[in-house]
Amino acid sequence: MRANSGSGFRSVNCHRGSWFSCPYRAVRAYYRCRMRWCPSSVLHLLRCVRSRSCTRRGRNRLPLWIREIWAYMRLLVQSLYFNSLTDSDVVFDSVFEPVFWTVDYVTRWFGTVFVCLVVILTSSIVVIAYVVLLPLVLNTYSPAWIAWHVCYGHWNLIMIAFHYYKATKTSPGCPPTEKSDTPFVSVCKKCIMPKPARTHHCGICNRCILKMDHHCPWLNNCVGHFNHRYFFSFCLFMTLGCVYCSISGRNLFLDAYNALERFKHLDMEKPGVPVTGMGLLIGLLPPGQTNYQTPAPPYTFKDKMINKSIIYMWVLTSTVGVALGALTIWHAVLISRGETSIERHINSKETKRLAKRGRVYRNPFNYGRLNNWKIFFGVEKRSHWVTRVLLPSGHAPHGDGLTWDILPVKKDLIPTRSKKRGGRNEPLKKERPKWKSDYPMTEGQLRSKRDEFWDTAPAFDGRKEIWDALRAAALAAECNDLELAQAIVDGACITLPHGSLTESYDELGNRYQLPAYTLAPPVNLISETSSECKVSESTQKQAQPPPCRQEFQLRVRLSTGKDVRLTASMADSIAELKKQLEEQEEIDVNRQRWFFSGKLLTDKTRLQDTKIQKDFVVQVIVNVNPSVITN
Ligand SMILES: [Zn+2]
Ligand SMILES: [Zn+2]
Repeated sequence: MRANSGSGFRSVNCHRGSWFSCPYRAVRAYYRCRMRWCPSSVLHLLRCVRSRSCTRRGRNRLPLWIREIWAYMRLLVQSLYFNSLTDSDVVFDSVFEPVFWTVDYVTRWFGTVFVCLVVILTSSIVVIAYVVLLPLVLNTYSPAWIAWHVCYGHWNLIMIAFHYYKATKTSPGCPPTEKSDTPFVSVCKKCIMPKPARTHHCGICNRCILKMDHHCPWLNNCVGHFNHRYFFSFCLFMTLGCVYCSISGRNLFLDAYNALERFKHLDMEKPGVPVTGMGLLIGLLPPGQTNYQTPAPPYTFKDKMINKSIIYMWVLTSTVGVALGALTIWHAVLISRGETSIERHINSKETKRLAKRGRVYRNPFNYGRLNNWKIFFGVEKRSHWVTRVLLPSGHAPHGDGLTWDILPVKKDLIPTRSKKRGGRNEPLKKERPKWKSDYPMTEGQLRSKRDEFWDTAPAFDGRKEIWDALRAAALAAECNDLELAQAIVDGACITLPHGSLTESYDELGNRYQLPAYTLAPPVNLISETSSECKVSESTQKQAQPPPCRQEFQLRVRLSTGKDVRLTASMADSIAELKKQLEEQEEIDVNRQRWFFSGKLLTDKTRLQDTKIQKDFVVQVIVNVNPSVITN
């Protein structure tokens, strides 16, 4: 392109036409001129254009140069939107991008206007309260009522002002922009940054917000982890204030309304001077009566203004009280459930999805109703209900918004954060559950009972890979290899609140419970060396004399969840089988640990020593990458 920059459009196309007609020249020219920028895509473009123009040459009568331009234009247009990942969502997003952008832009701009509106309307009510109502109250009410109105009114006003200021001025919180080891659940498509749990991208603020609830135009700010409490308290106290004004001002409003009505009736009898302005301010007065008004003798201008301000105040506070009250109740319900507005949508979708599969969805951030409120308000002791909820308080919320406690906490207890991964996690303990089977159980029976559990458990709840990891860990723990079991547990990000595999949680908060028989043999286990087993075993030995190599398919279950079949004979040693597995699955011999019937199989062990039968499964724990283990 640089070589042609001086020539006109036609000459450019002529030149390009000659390129297309000779592939070798095109390629040479490409190497000479275009090597430095996006070589493969340009070469691909040239090839496509050329092949397109070639295939159409026979049947298309249009001049060659028009066809070439046409093909080139089509490719250019396609290159703007087409890639292998294009699907309906991408197309939808792209088409509506200008709409989203406009909405975001307008909301951003209106944010300032809305904030001014909130300040102006609230101030107007406060002014009316001081100028109109306070003198009325002082003149007519008893001292007790005066004290109540003065105290409550001022407290409510302070709470509204404090929380509104804090909600607008406090940053909702963003994930760190530098590299950190904060656990994250996905990557933001807009910021190209890792997103911790509960974080969402706000298109209006154009950044990711921790525990994002929604973008509030009335605050001109996002509601997120650090200002959610301020937002809710503002809504709550504003609603209380509005309800207070409309209840205590109800009689005044009725008096004022009746007075104005009377005044207008008097006025109707002598129609005359048109009055502009305040008459239709609230739209409450019947049409046809408001257009012509003159001050009647008993009512001064001041009286009229007082009546109108009272009507204005009552109408405004009662409508705002109803609307904001509904919003506050909705947010209170969400907080009780431990959800944000965004999570409400996600969770209801997830609930429906799992319900179709006959499973129940559990919100991992729900700690129980009372605890959700305690966490939300940062209440750690009883006095905090007063100092942190009923009085202005600038304390920071519970947690950093990056990591979340995923374990349900004990009743009436705020979860204590462990330094490691947010949830309570204890190292695996050595102790094994002791249990007694209803009937004396043989090793074979125990094995099949366990197999049945491991095969069916993932179908009901939890994630398959976690079940597999738990199975491998249980096996390792049973062989007294606690180190390996701990490594498997850590590698799969499983938390053990009691240091035992009987109860565990994955990163998403799913709970996994293992029955005792998966972790330890019963106290009344019949060893296979005894009685009947021994008999069957000896007959088996006779039937299969060692020198004769009888091959069969040995089923091997890897800790990665894969089942592999190896060709084995009873005379094969484990070392030989490990090699075979290495060749077949490319798993280094040193990374394999073979287990059967809860025992580690050493390299020298031969299959016949293990008393394995053909349908049984051998477990192979594949050591994960050491770097993962140390994580
Ligand atoms: Zn983002
Ligand atoms: Zn926002």
